[in-house]
Amino acid sequence: MAIATVNPATGETLKTFEPLNVGEIEERLFRAERAFRAYSRTDFAQRAGLMHRAADLLEADQESIARTMTTEMGKTLVSARAEAAKCVKAMRWYAEHAEAQLADEHPAKADVEDSGAARAFVRYRPIGTVLAVMPWNFPLWQVIRFAAPALMAGNTGLLKHASNVPQTALYVEELFRRAGFPEGAFQTLLVGSGAVADLLRDDRIVAATLTGSEPAGRSVASIAGDEIKKTVLELGGSDPFLVLPSADLDKAIRTAVTARVQNAGQSCIAAKRFIVHADVFEQFASGFVERMAALKVGDPMDEGTDVGPLSSAQGRSDLEELVDDATRRGATALCGGGRPLHLQEGWFYEPTVLTGITEEMRIHKEEAFGPVASLYRVTDLEEALTLANDSPFGLSSNAWTRDPAEQEVLTRDLEAGGIFFNGMTASHPGLPFGGAKRSGYGRELAGHGIREFCNPTTVWFGPEE
Ligand code: NAP
Repeated sequence: MAIATVNPATGETLKTFEPLNVGEIEERLFRAERAFRAYSRTDFAQRAGLMHRAADLLEADQESIARTMTTEMGKTLVSARAEAAKCVKAMRWYAEHAEAQLADEHPAKADVEDSGAARAFVRYRPIGTVLAVMPWNFPLWQVIRFAAPALMAGNTGLLKHASNVPQTALYVEELFRRAGFPEGAFQTLLVGSGAVADLLRDDRIVAATLTGSEPAGRSVASIAGDEIKKTVLELGGSDPFLVLPSADLDKAIRTAVTARVQNAGQSCIAAKRFIVHADVFEQFASGFVERMAALKVGDPMDEGTDVGPLSSAQGRSDLEELVDDATRRGATALCGGGRPLHLQEGWFYEPTVLTGITEEMRIHKEEAFGPVASLYRVTDLEEALTLANDSPFGLSSNAWTRDPAEQEVLTRDLEAGGIFFNGMTASHPGLPFGGAKRSGYGRELAGHGIREFCNPTTVWFGPEE
């Protein structure tokens, strides 16, 4: 894919970039390694000072970077501003909490004695330069949720961002440089995905994190595995949204719409499969369809727009194929099902609710990366659970029930990295985030996230004679 800014609302190519050549990549690898040697020796107070400064700069840049994101990948300006604000919050959160999260761990006295030590502890030490391969859908947030903990842990970072968000990618490098992080502590590599294999095999890169699709994850993990390098994978999702009879239906309907169409439906943790108990199905379906059909699709820069364009022509045609496959095999579109007639330019798609979905339809198992909801009717909790788990993915899940016994069963049996009751799945700096099954492994955010790229070193002192 060419490295370029192409406005998804118009299809116009605004700026193109030459990928870095071999020599330019080499320079950056050299700088990253050199930076790690010095930067890893800084203390938490020094790193926190730099991170707070970066957060302040980002806060001041909120409007301009939001406009860049909207221009590059089509999210609404309102949501782009919110994304920038969320990044500021996460940077401050890690600046304040990293030291405690990486504090030395002291095993139980009996275990220390049993090892024959006078004393022993575990120290979380930085590991080196981590490669981050990132997607375009939350072009700032995905990077910051890697970069803030990585830098606070004392690591250095190299970013290979998605090829359609180069200006956002360059902005992040510049942000950390302006904040005073040493040269080479965080760098952007404007390269295509074909350059990733050689990077992973380079000794100066010690680990990798990838957020993106399953094929990309498989490729990165297999090469890194061959090199015995740690990876964290945040891949796709097809999160279930269960609605059971005790749910607050009004709230569930309103949340269902937001959960499905956030970011024009291009969110890994968007609810995609709506699994509704027969007792409340008709009421839920009519309210949900009414609200989905009423959404305003249009210019993402317009503050009144609910749903902007999809990020690329390819993304839209992939979605069209999924919907066409389902309707050809007998599914019904209760609303939407095609391109909005009033928008001739750009890669828009109507908010759509499909029902009558069967196992042989692709959408039953594949991820719909756009504003298309699959609506299912079930007769009891067991059937709801079976359907929810009938997916290769296991990122997060939503369940609407006020019954504590049902909540307990779902907490035990839902196959996912997150279970959100009576609310929408979202990521928060202080809560771990990540998936199960084909949605990946490892965690980002919270203490779990910062410890992924550390060396938990056992430090043991023999008894003094
Ligand atoms: P993608 O095609 O996998 O791209 C993601 C990143 O991987 C881009 O930087 C891309 O570079 C690179 N890439 C692609 N193929 C690669 C390969 N074979 N080897 C190395 N790098 C490769 O994914 P996408 O379509 O942009 O993003 C959508 C997917 O990401 C969805 O499945 C979504 O659910 C998932 N996602 C998951 C999370 C999560 O936290 N679990 C969050 C957001 C998105 P180029 O742009 O240069 O191709």
